Amino acid sequence: MSRTVYVNGSYLPESEAKISVFDRGFLFADGVYEVTSVIQGKLIDNRRHLQRLGRSLDALEMHAPADIDEIERIQHELIRRNSLDEGLIYLQVTRGAADRDFSYPAQAEPSLVMFSQSKEILRNPLAATGIKVITVADIRWLRRDIKSIGLLAPCMAKMAAKKAGADDAWMVDGDRITEGSSNNAYIVDHEGNIVTRQLGHDILSGITRRAILELAAATGIDVQERPFTIDEAHAAREAFITSASTLVLPVVEIDGRTIGEGTPGPVAKRLRELYIEMAIQSSSS
Ligand code: PMP
Repeated sequence: MSRTVYVNGSYLPESEAKISVFDRGFLFADGVYEVTSVIQGKLIDNRRHLQRLGRSLDALEMHAPADIDEIERIQHELIRRNSLDEGLIYLQVTRGAADRDFSYPAQAEPSLVMFSQSKEILRNPLAATGIKVITVADIRWLRRDIKSIGLLAPCMAKMAAKKAGADDAWMVDGDRITEGSSNNAYIVDHEGNIVTRQLGHDILSGITRRAILELAAATGIDVQERPFTIDEAHAAREAFITSASTLVLPVVEIDGRTIGEGTPGPVAKRLRELYIEMAIQSSSS
């Protein structure tokens, strides 16, 4: 069945949705994006996603194509038109179409593209088994706090993981983990503390990360926000990832080494449950 997608003011069947070959997203990856998960037809933690979109746009001196309320209205309309119960809404803003030139054009109108994707989020089978990750060099640019659509390095990392028989890759700067290819990375040390890299230019400020750290604090689990090494990860009691589309997923193997018992650990399982509970209660319909 064809989806209805949103392109610059119009709702169209996906086969009719078009963007200019001069769009700077296409030519320069000059754009930013957000992914909000949808559970029971409701957007999860969407306001924070849209606030982060504002920060990405500001960092690139890009105009917002619509205000937050208008974007949220379009997201709800896409959920309605596509009868989406569970999955995600992807939204992308690019600087728009202009003659190819590295300098930002003075005149271009930003482009706004949004579409829905159906996906099993609550019953993701990987939540029960956990995932395997490998570590790879973090070869991305140095402003990973901006949610840029330039995603070739994470695509390469993900493919390296697949070729190695793993599910995902954790990226490494020196000997310290930055984050996953499309998620934030955490370990639980032998004292039961959660360790995850601190915010800054090195990683994306995950919206799920923020909620999970709030839940951890409320549950009395200590969190250390600092870089951790590959050796610490290999020796961890538990490990997990977070993102809007995966929520919390346990990591049971890193570089072929079994983490903990090789099954999802109690901290990751508990945080996943708490996050789902909280998300459903506080989501906007
Ligand atoms: N880091 C990176 C590099 C990501 O691509 C993502 C997901 N887009 C995340 C972290 C997780 O962010 P969020 O929880 O906001 O989905």
